[in-house]
Amino acid sequence: MSNPSGRHFLQIPGPTNVPDPVLHAIARPTIDHRGPEFGKLGRAILGRIGAVFQTEHPVVIYPASGTGAWEAALVNTLSPGDSVLMYETGHFATLWRQLAERIGLVPEMIASDWRHGADAAAIEARLAEDTEHRIKAVCVVHNETSTGAVTHVGKVRKAIDAAGHPALLMADTISSLASIDFRMDEWGVDVTVAGSQKGLMLPPGLSFNAVSPKAVAASKTAGLVKSYWAWDDILAANQRGYFPYTPATNLLYGLDVAIGMLLDEGLQNVFARHDRHAEATRRAVRGWGLEILCADPEDYSSSLTAVMMPDGADADALRNLILERFDMSLGAGLGKLAGRVFRIGHLGSFNDLMLAGTLCGVEMGLDLAGVPRAGGGVAAATSYLAEPAA
Ligand SMILES: *Cc1c(COP(=O)(O)O)cnc(C)c1O
Repeated sequence: MSNPSGRHFLQIPGPTNVPDPVLHAIARPTIDHRGPEFGKLGRAILGRIGAVFQTEHPVVIYPASGTGAWEAALVNTLSPGDSVLMYETGHFATLWRQLAERIGLVPEMIASDWRHGADAAAIEARLAEDTEHRIKAVCVVHNETSTGAVTHVGKVRKAIDAAGHPALLMADTISSLASIDFRMDEWGVDVTVAGSQKGLMLPPGLSFNAVSPKAVAASKTAGLVKSYWAWDDILAANQRGYFPYTPATNLLYGLDVAIGMLLDEGLQNVFARHDRHAEATRRAVRGWGLEILCADPEDYSSSLTAVMMPDGADADALRNLILERFDMSLGAGLGKLAGRVFRIGHLGSFNDLMLAGTLCGVEMGLDLAGVPRAGGGVAAATSYLAEPAA
């Protein structure tokens, strides 16, 4: 039986561990969202949040999960029957496609094996064929959370430009923002979709659309029905630090603190920390003799690592055992990967000893579950973590 004392290890790739300063901020009394104190908070957040997206453009904040921001990106910019080009990186790309279909778009998805990021050359080839410009948007998932594979969004931008195609570029950064380098403006992204509960270190409940001038221009003529998600009312109210409807005030207290923590650490340091923990995790997986789901080292995710189970071993049985014995939650295999992989989240508020504890829990769990392993994964990871700082 698990011992309920001490802290639960929440090592799923979102929601992530919420740091104490954020929890304390959220615990403050709720204030009048039309009063002067709120205006100050709103202006402080809206003035700094773009830095996290590496953008000068506005960031729309919704009281919604990431799925809401997916929908918002599409309904604000597109019209019924528009074609959108998507890429089957995994479960989340597939869900975004399903959403697009339900709201009256015509998604076209480039098939893939759920072990790679999106192939920019395939996107370029498809756009080059589309001489009538029926495709209105290219939608990619920057970090595919179901597989641990990254899409190189800057390369997708270059592919769109090389094809001379006017489509909007949309990127889902729900599990990469503030964990993996994402440069909205440099990469010419038109709509960036993000959520609060992963790299931003907040509880679930906020999501985001960062919007380029081209996306805002598209929103003026887009024909899909929208009301709650409409950018124009929100952008207008945001000018003075307010929102057109009741915002998630307490989560915004937390967001203000989280932005401060990220900018104090320095975004590049945040990314380097995630890269290092991901590398240590992969060394552990190789030490165990298990296979990393992502098949291309160029596409390895720094937010999470998906690990394939040996034939005949059940990933969910392993996860359940680790939860019961060691009070640690690991990510499940999603969609067609159910039972075949487990996912180690190493994003958000996280440090070396939390990672070491996480990997110890996995190693002990593998042995208790009778999953054959080659050797010492934890030892491989800790000797990497203990290397002298460069
Ligand atoms: C978590 C996640 C989502 C879904 O976000 P919700 O907040 O659960 O609606 C979408 N895309 C990616 C890449 C994610 O990681």
